[in-house]
Amino acid sequence: MITIGLTGGIGSGKSTVASMFKDLGVPVYDSDQRAKHLMNSSKAIHDQLVELLGEEAFLDGKLNRPFIASKVFNDKNLLAKLNDIVHPVVREDFVAWAKNQNARYVIQETALLFENKSQALYDEVILVTAPKEVRIGRVLARDNTTRAQVEARMDNQLEDKIKLELANFVIENIDLEITKEKVLQVHASILTEH
Ligand code: ATP
Repeated sequence: MITIGLTGGIGSGKSTVASMFKDLGVPVYDSDQRAKHLMNSSKAIHDQLVELLGEEAFLDGKLNRPFIASKVFNDKNLLAKLNDIVHPVVREDFVAWAKNQNARYVIQETALLFENKSQALYDEVILVTAPKEVRIGRVLARDNTTRAQVEARMDNQLEDKIKLELANFVIENIDLEITKEKVLQVHASILTEH
């Protein structure tokens, strides 16, 4: 199975682009959503999180999100450890999911792809971009959050300048009609090349 990574910074429009590929019949795995599910259901994650953060990591068997967020918010080292626990379980879940798809290729949507040095796991990587101010504006309009919180999340992501060098395809997402055309072009290229 051909696997394609789809990434981009916060608010770039990964999910928006992912649904355009879904409309073309491409199966899309949403890493963020699956990670949330697996953090509540995987025993491997449960046991390692308790070891890392203590029993408080779970409340009544459910992930204690506010506690975990408060722990990792200003601690990059702990955030990296959390990521190292969740990441392999999501990877395994994705591989199992991909095996069950009946399509020419599948997409894994994931925010921290280059940050996790995962590019070699994919046949191609698509990067979604938009100017930083546009991205901040979109997230502020979408989520109940603050500019400082959005910028803090951006600080945990690589700059587009670096990611542009590493991606196989770049989709600049500003005007949705142009984005849709670019999605069609990338889709055609993937089908031709593989
Ligand atoms: P995150 O990393 O935070 O999950 P994302 O990269 O998946 O974000 P989306 O959720 O697709 O980004 O987009 C962020 C917000 O901006 C959404 O509310 C979406 O509807 C809106 N949006 C995305 N692309 C455009 C666009 N080209 N024009 C206007 N609004 C857009």
